[in-house]
Order: sequence, then structure tokens, then C-alpha cells
Amino acid sequence: MRFAEIPGNQSIKQAMLNMVESGRVPHSLMLFENDGCGALALGLAFLQYLNCQDRRDGDSCGECHNCRQISKLTFPDLRFTFPITSGTKVSGEAKTLTCDSYAPLWKEQVLKNPYFIENELTSALGIEKKSGLITVAEGRAIMNKLSLAPVSDGYRGIFIWLPEKMNQSTANMLLKSLEEPEEKTIFILITHSPESVISTISSRCQGIRVLPLGKEELAGAVQFLAGISSDEAASVAAISGGSIGAALQRLSDEGETSVFDDLFKSLIDSLICNDLSAALQVGEALSGLESREKQKAFCIFAGEAVRAIMLYGRGLGEISGIGSDAPWYREAAGKLPQSFAAGAGTAISRAASMIERNVSAKMVFCNLVTRLYYERQRKYNI
Ligand SMILES: [Zn+2]
Repeated sequence: MRFAEIPGNQSIKQAMLNMVESGRVPHSLMLFENDGCGALALGLAFLQYLNCQDRRDGDSCGECHNCRQISKLTFPDLRFTFPITSGTKVSGEAKTLTCDSYAPLWKEQVLKNPYFIENELTSALGIEKKSGLITVAEGRAIMNKLSLAPVSDGYRGIFIWLPEKMNQSTANMLLKSLEEPEEKTIFILITHSPESVISTISSRCQGIRVLPLGKEELAGAVQFLAGISSDEAASVAAISGGSIGAALQRLSDEGETSVFDDLFKSLIDSLICNDLSAALQVGEALSGLESREKQKAFCIFAGEAVRAIMLYGRGLGEISGIGSDAPWYREAAGKLPQSFAAGAGTAISRAASMIERNVSAKMVFCNLVTRLYYERQRKYNI
């Protein structure tokens, strides 16, 4: 993958070029991003640039032997580590499994869409609804890889996707290598929750924040990648929080978006009618969504939808990117107090972080609905 193929984040690409040109390539790099914002693609483009035999115009050539092997993920000095457990596609004792068993499924997913989001990967690996881990067995497999001489004469890339899922024993095993890896070896860690990464690991890495794309940039990228109309791309970009992966998954799973859309509108309609009982029933339905990832995805959807309501409330609806749904949003904005969106946005973010911390979904959504009901009532207190 070349830098030019990845939308946005120009400053990161430039920083990576500078590292190479100045001869200051870090041993360990930690890219932190929101799910699906392109950190894996950037990491792969960086490794390809490092190994390209014919760099030109601030990018890899995409044609030399190393470029072709890295873009096909067949480069021999490349290893991917990611959270796994025993599942429907690979079985065995979870403690002894390594990512080698999952490598074909991982590669298939990355080649299909390097912007995949977490639940897309767990589904591709057949471990949905389970909690994957980076285990001691996988730590040993990395150390084995490092103990062997590299096959190529370029940089060896060890990717660790979601190092926050690594336990302390595995982390201890890797510390020395992260700090002083073998010559011409680079660790590239990609995290969605930097504060949850064991501090002895994160402190040994140079950190880079991968930013979500702006709405127009995201719409342009999605239009190109998915081959859809500019209107359709603008609509999906408006509700995807700057994440290419989230936007692409929405497009591939229209059904899910439509379920979220129905639930969100039912919830807001119940609040507008002051019907707490109906709103709580929507809360029940939300807690019944089949996985923690789906519940989190609903929160992202609802956060964006609330923002659209806020924009309509201020007469700025056209920049929300909401297409044919505009009449519903305009009407909802007219019936809710101006303060609603800010309070609701905070409550929804809080709900998402509680779900992330495995708090009972019933409790999270019951609290969220009650909080939104209170925010709706504020109208009468002003
Ligand atoms: Zn090349």
C-alpha cells in the first residue's frame, strides 16, 4: 500500500517520510486512532516506504519486489499479532493458540479492506461475541520470529493490533525487544484505547495520533472506495464519526444502519411525546442488541444523529449531510429544547464508555434513556 492510496492524515505521512529521510526510524511506533480511521493502512504504507527499492516523490514505488510482497502481505519479514481466542473457524485450547493459525483469515480481511473495524475482524476470524487476547503463546511466537535471521535485507515489521488486549506476562516478554529490537526491526502498534495499554509498553513507543477524517474528506474517500454517488457518500460520512471503516461497514450493512435509525427515531419520538414508558422500551431493545460492539456502534450512530439535530436547531441543517431524512430531523429539532443536543451528546458518550467497560447493558441504556428524558424536560425549566 502506498501513502497516496490512503486518504487524509497528510501530516502523519510527512512525519513518517521525515523519519526515514533523517535516518531516525523509531524502534517502536504506537499509532492511536478511533476504530477504522486508517492506522493499519498508514503502518503498512510506512513499512513499504522503508523497504521500497525505488522510492520516488515522497512515496514507495508500488512496483519493486518488496513493494509487491508487502502489498500482498507475503513479505517474509512481516508478522501480525492481534487478539484471538478459540472460535468457530479455528478451534483449540485458547491459551496455546497463536496468530499463525489465524493468519490466512487476517490477511484475507486486510487485503479486502485495511480500514476494517473491530467487529468486522472478529466476525472474519469467527470469534464474534468472544473476548480475544494477546496471550503468552503469541508473545513466544513473536520472540521466535525475532530470534530467526531476517529473510530479506530490508526492515522487519512486527505489527501488534490492539496491544490493549495484551496481558502483563506477554508484555513483560516483549519489553526488551520493544526497547532495543534487533537491527532493522520495527514494531508498529495500533491501539483504539491508548490509556488501556500497559504503561511499560506504551512508554517504550513513539506515539502518533491518527486523526478522524473531516466529513468532506471522508465522503470523497468513501465515494472512491465504494464506488457510490456523492449524495450517498455524504449521507454515510455524516454519521460515521470520521472513520473510513465505520462508513464502509455501514454501506455493507445497510440493514444494521436501518435498525439503528429506527431505534433512534423511536427513542426521540417517545421523548418528544413525554412517553417515558415507550422510551424505556426502546432502551430495553438497545440492551438486547446482539453484541457489545453493536451497542457501541449504536452509540456512535446516536452521537452523530444528535449532532445533526443540534445543527438543524441552529438553522445549519444543510451542513449535517443528512439527505432524505431532513424533514424528520428538522421537526425533532423544533420540538426539543436547544440545550438537548449538548446534554444528550455527553450522555451518549458516557454510555459508550460504560459499554466498553463491560457495565451491564440493561443498566447503561436504562440510565441513558432516563438522562435523555431529563434533558428533554429541561424545556419546561427554562
Ligand atoms: Zn518499491
